[in-house]
Amino acid sequence: MSATLEAAPCPNVHDEAWYSARASRGVQALKAYDPGHDLVALRRRFGAAQLVELGSNENPYGPSPVARAAVLDRLHELHRYPDPLGADLKRALARVHGVREDELLLGNGSHELLMMIAQVFAGPGAEVVYPRHGFAVFALAAQAAGATSRVADALPRTDAMPAGHDLEALLAAITPATTLLYLANPNNPTGTWLGAEALRAFLARVPDHVIVVFDEAYAEMADAPDYRSGLALRDAHPNLVISRTFSKAYGLAGLRVGYFVAPAGLMAVMERVRESFNVNLLALAACEAALGDAEHLAWVRARNAEERTALGEALRARGLRVFPSQTNFVLVEFGERTSAVERALVERGVILRPMGGYGLGDCLRITVGTRDENRRLLAALDEVLA
Ligand SMILES: *Cc1c(COP(=O)(O)O)cnc(C)c1O
Repeated sequence: MSATLEAAPCPNVHDEAWYSARASRGVQALKAYDPGHDLVALRRRFGAAQLVELGSNENPYGPSPVARAAVLDRLHELHRYPDPLGADLKRALARVHGVREDELLLGNGSHELLMMIAQVFAGPGAEVVYPRHGFAVFALAAQAAGATSRVADALPRTDAMPAGHDLEALLAAITPATTLLYLANPNNPTGTWLGAEALRAFLARVPDHVIVVFDEAYAEMADAPDYRSGLALRDAHPNLVISRTFSKAYGLAGLRVGYFVAPAGLMAVMERVRESFNVNLLALAACEAALGDAEHLAWVRARNAEERTALGEALRARGLRVFPSQTNFVLVEFGERTSAVERALVERGVILRPMGGYGLGDCLRITVGTRDENRRLLAALDEVLA
């Protein structure tokens, strides 16, 4: 720390700048993750039942009933620490994915693991590559680790597609200093996806010194014939990490569990910085139970696909541009009236996600809700657009 920093007295305890100057280099330039609206305040204002929450891509149907039962079943154990290894959940995941338990790492949400991998493999002097209009956490992770971000341009936006990933641009952004590359497939917030063949060819061209993270938070929702999880490509690529979550299709966002599937050696290195009890007791039990209920997952997937199509058609019928999506949300272009529409919807208790922070300020991201939620959204939208 420099002499001037030490000499400057703290002006007052709320002076963020004074404390920020003492943070590590990466953190000095960082802005905290923007979670969107203050939903707690909005629920208080409108009443939770009146509010139509379509801003955070949560599963509106909730988790499997067996996951709920598993939580209740463990309440008598709240005074105990959870299993620090998460062995039962790992065993269940290993079975579902056909991988070994030492190829799994559990996180307090995949957000935690996406941050952690940058802490481990990137730092000052290292470069991290990720796409424009990609998930916000990639930029946060790189910056917090003190690494240099190299943002690859997206494909040009067309009438049909909303600026999806440009694999050539991602490859071109890689340098000898690159240690990490992030990519979400399907992508949040564009809803776009990459086909199996494109991904396979892409990975074949990524140099071995780059660890590639495929964030597959929406994999369970994807049903395009050409979509494949990167899990199938792991054998050929010892630098490949697959990120999954229980927050979306499994409907367990409130319990915070995500996981990585990656080579055992890589997982062992990440284990060194994992907080020992990062996944809590109730979360471990709920996720293990949820994995056993394939029927619920299939039902959610089918309901989501049906409502996604219906919502897309209803929005298009109102003259809006709706981009194709393989997720549980749609990106919709509102043009110049975007923020006015968004604010007017909030006044009617309908919460969508503004996209300014993602460089898509003329669009809103709309989570596919239940039929009733989508109906209420459309009714409010008709008032606002009138
Ligand atoms: C929602 C989402 C996640 C999930 O984050 P959790 O921390 O597991 O809840 C991860 N990646 C993307 C792209 C997402 O949209």
